[in-house]
Amino acid sequence: MSFSERYKDLLIQDARKELHRATEIKAGCIASMIKAIGFSCTQCGNCCRGDHSDNRVMLLQQDVLRISKCSDLSASEFSLPFIPAEAENALKGISDPSDLVPFIDSEGNVHSFGWMLRRKNNSCCLFLEVAGLSSRCNVYNHRPALCQTYPFYMEDCKLHTSECEGLGSDISYFDSLTFARLVLDRYIHELEERILVYQRYEHFEPMGKNVDFSLERFKKGHVFYIVHDSEGTHRRCERL
Ligand code: SF4
Repeated sequence: MSFSERYKDLLIQDARKELHRATEIKAGCIASMIKAIGFSCTQCGNCCRGDHSDNRVMLLQQDVLRISKCSDLSASEFSLPFIPAEAENALKGISDPSDLVPFIDSEGNVHSFGWMLRRKNNSCCLFLEVAGLSSRCNVYNHRPALCQTYPFYMEDCKLHTSECEGLGSDISYFDSLTFARLVLDRYIHELEERILVYQRYEHFEPMGKNVDFSLERFKKGHVFYIVHDSEGTHRRCERL
């Protein structure tokens, strides 16, 4: 068994253990934490805009299916390969190219793990409609799990919060429990998908420090992605 196969097995084992622990967490326990933290959405829309913080929305497979059905858009019209923010900035030439090095193979393909929502040129979410001072989500009833649970998320079986001005406001126990169920459901789906990604992952060797940013394909303003997701490996070409 090669190093990469052994490493993959270890990652799968760890993710399975985390999933097992996650299924034993009681929604009531998470609800009490949410109630103690407090939250009320102020409708500021900052989490949908890119001018305040990282507004990238990672998509679960179920999000992609739900939005495809409700929006009349194909998955490729609203989703983009997900890479860390530093790597994305390096691709756009606004940060150190070395941030991209771990993701590029010898042919200049950029490897990505999963999908995120597209954003407009002004960095707002594709589905955010702004009219004067008000804004609305065009897929609100079908929005991704990340949006439904913002600003809460689970990692290592612990509850975490993202930056949000609504934190600290009063919330009823009933609303906390509704939130807790959604947060746990999202966490379990994320872990299940992570296991599938590891199982279906096809290993690539990063090009390392020898990465050549003068490769023809970069010069032509296109990025060739290889996306590793819970269904396997996909190729996608996007404009820079
Ligand atoms: S899908 Fe809707 S809620 Fe989520 S970031 Fe986009 S506009 Fe905001």
